[in-house]
Amino acid sequence: MLTSAVQRSTLGLHTLEQYEPLIGAAAVERIAAKADRVRTMRIAHISSTFYGGGVTELLTPLTLMMNATGIETDWHLIQGTPGFFGCTKKLHNTLQGTSLEFSDAEKTIYEQVVFENATRLHLDDCDAVIVHDPQPLPLITHFSDREMPWLWQCHVDLSSPHAPVWSYLRKFIEQYSAAIFSLQEYGQDLQVGQHFVTPAIDPFSAKNREMSDRERQEFLGNYKIPTDRPLVTQISRFDRWKDPMGVIEAFRKAREQVDCTLVLIGNNASDDPEGGKILETIESAADEDIIVLSVDDPTLVNALQRSAAVVLQKSTREGFGLTVTEAMWKGAAVIGGDVGGIRHQIKDGWNGFLVSTPDQAAARMVRLLKNPKLREELGARAKESVRQNFLMSRLLEDWLDLLSKHER
Ligand code: UDP
Repeated sequence: MLTSAVQRSTLGLHTLEQYEPLIGAAAVERIAAKADRVRTMRIAHISSTFYGGGVTELLTPLTLMMNATGIETDWHLIQGTPGFFGCTKKLHNTLQGTSLEFSDAEKTIYEQVVFENATRLHLDDCDAVIVHDPQPLPLITHFSDREMPWLWQCHVDLSSPHAPVWSYLRKFIEQYSAAIFSLQEYGQDLQVGQHFVTPAIDPFSAKNREMSDRERQEFLGNYKIPTDRPLVTQISRFDRWKDPMGVIEAFRKAREQVDCTLVLIGNNASDDPEGGKILETIESAADEDIIVLSVDDPTLVNALQRSAAVVLQKSTREGFGLTVTEAMWKGAAVIGGDVGGIRHQIKDGWNGFLVSTPDQAAARMVRLLKNPKLREELGARAKESVRQNFLMSRLLEDWLDLLSKHER
């Protein structure tokens, strides 16, 4: 148990009480009372990377906040070979709808590496185990004498999973106590209970905290991002589902009518082997008005989301889309793909725009770039909708409710 003042001032460690100015004293009291009921529980989260992607982005603040609330919460990683992560990326893509065979040889690599990880995991002291996404999913088969609930949380867009892969994974999923999805519409026909938990952001993190104009300018300057023309940006892993080529096409069309600069920045999750190739394709399509950066700098993400006239997230599949939430929290004018979790964040024309094609994205971009007042109005509503629905305090409360349902 950490106690010293220095340790408690860690940059990412935020207490429930800090949320009071954002959510009010009554909500803080309500959540604290729920935490009291499960405070003696010991929880273990298991995922496949500490680096990159939305699951890391969620678990970093959530596990710290659960500990700050007094619930002993661990976070374990599974390790894997490049071959293993090639297989699990294929699972990810097929769950999001790509029609590809997952061969017997791939099943063997997948299950063998998970078995090796299981032999290293000792979870007897836990009161609940929460496994994230397909990578560690088969772990459960190696804990047949478990007494505590095991929950599987799937963060991907499950609107149309490839049926043969889903039925293969289902035999693992149905050994869990329950499955958790980001949206009701991802619910499946399963023999186990299902819960729905929408992601959320940490408003105090380096990526989301307030920044002065000077600091913002300094950060953009450090990366040689020009600010003489309005900025349009998309910030995403380099991944086909984020449709970076569609963004470039839309930008080129918009640029015919309004002068602007496009900034595409991305990091690469250590469990995602496809990023390098996608980055190469983007770089070869870029021109003098398109800046492509492969960096991992949360403060740059913050500065860009606050500086851009338009933030794009033109995904063609999106489990939830934390980049949308982050930009909306900063009062940005966001254009998102009309898919998955983005639809649950943006109400078209009210707090942002939803689009399905590069042409639609270009038209919305032009409209926003020509109309600062519209940007401000959409952005103000966007910020308020995040305050009401998508802050980490709400995610903590959802988990407290869920854990109390699954107490041993
Ligand atoms: N992200 C980042 N730097 C980048 C690109 C993405 O820090 O260059 C972060 C982004 O801010 C967000 C997360 O990675 O917090 C991506 O989560 P999201 O739900 O949008 O997509 P996922 O990667 O999980 O598909």
